[in-house]
Amino acid sequence: MPHASSIHHRFSLPDGRAVHLRLNHEALTLSFDELQVYTFDLAGRLYGAFDHGVNYRRGLDGRVLARWREGGERKRKWLGEEEVRAFLERMRGEIEKVISDQYSVISGLESEDAAKTLDVGRWTLDVSNQLERVVDFDYEADVRRFHQIYRPISILPPDQYQALVLQATEGCSFNTCTFCALYRDRPFRIKSPEEFEGHVRDVLDFFGPGVSMRRSIFLADANALIIPQRRLLPLMTIVARAFPILPEDASAEARREWLRRDPRAMTGVFAFVDGLSAERKTVADFGELQALGLRRVYIGLESGHEPLLAWLRKPSTAAEMVDAVGRMKAAGLQVGVIVLLGVGGRRFDRGHVADTAAALNAMPLDGKDIIYFSPFEPDPRAPYLSIGRAEGVELPTPEFMDAQRTRILARLTLPLPPAGPKRVPYNLADFVY
Ligand code: SF4
Repeated sequence: MPHASSIHHRFSLPDGRAVHLRLNHEALTLSFDELQVYTFDLAGRLYGAFDHGVNYRRGLDGRVLARWREGGERKRKWLGEEEVRAFLERMRGEIEKVISDQYSVISGLESEDAAKTLDVGRWTLDVSNQLERVVDFDYEADVRRFHQIYRPISILPPDQYQALVLQATEGCSFNTCTFCALYRDRPFRIKSPEEFEGHVRDVLDFFGPGVSMRRSIFLADANALIIPQRRLLPLMTIVARAFPILPEDASAEARREWLRRDPRAMTGVFAFVDGLSAERKTVADFGELQALGLRRVYIGLESGHEPLLAWLRKPSTAAEMVDAVGRMKAAGLQVGVIVLLGVGGRRFDRGHVADTAAALNAMPLDGKDIIYFSPFEPDPRAPYLSIGRAEGVELPTPEFMDAQRTRILARLTLPLPPAGPKRVPYNLADFVY
């Protein structure tokens, strides 16, 4: 039986709306008049939707973030439980219409001698079965299972929101930074190889065919690379055995083919690191991790200004982080450096701008690297607010943070892309996993 690399099907519903159905090795997408678009992973789980100007992203924990533009401004809102239920019901109703009105058309498509089924490595999919998976998907059971397997996924870098998260550690080994409460809900611990292997099995079982929508591995939680090298290598080996990792130098075409052939094929392993943990790894250590599939490491510089870092109780100095980035680059790794805008307010403003630009300029960043600019959003669970109030450090306005970014950018001597690092925004409020 012939297999297609993607199936497209266009038809009209009795109410006149044009439907475009597309099934490929990563997702099923249904568009209604291009005003409503639903995207599902291959397990039938809703990933995201667009409905009359509003974008929706469903997290695996069941929460749904709606984002839209109003008068040129970006708006966002987490749906309440009832709104989520209504949103899922509306989606199901639309898919049921497609099944009942178009089942015979789709079945007809299946009986033609071309484009009948989709061969996704270890699975062969057909359109009718995928639509039924979507309608039958049990969201409540899925959320329960997600919470059994994972501790909350607190944050990821923006280019890793669609990664397959594997929690080799839980929590942050420091939890000292006054602005951060992301991991204060759990003590830090490192999983044994046996426990981690079980976690990987559970994660694969949870995602099922939906794993093919996740094309990178994120080794979590906050600073998984703090794991001493002799304990980290067995964990990275477990990852490398479970997932084929794309060779570093693969062409764009080889990459596409690699990902199409195997739903578990990944573009690489990615992780956060803090300066102090990175200090404990040599170039050779990073090289071993690179050989096992580590591709990019994300480091929260926050600022290059030492007095501000000390005030924020960051566990490492800017000089240590500059040095760590040099060693990661020497090992052939890509680096993502995160800068926090507005933190420390006017009190630290001049030093923050000058020293952050200087620290970035001292890093050997190239076109494979990324500098993220993250506007500071105070977390009411973190001590920053009360410390700032007591010491008269005001909260930054969006205009103040924009101006800081512009002034830091103006001082950068690093080349612009493609030779130099990309400069991209990193907005924590947009994070959904
Ligand atoms: S900013 Fe990073 S190192 Fe600091 S407490 Fe948060 S997760 Fe830990």
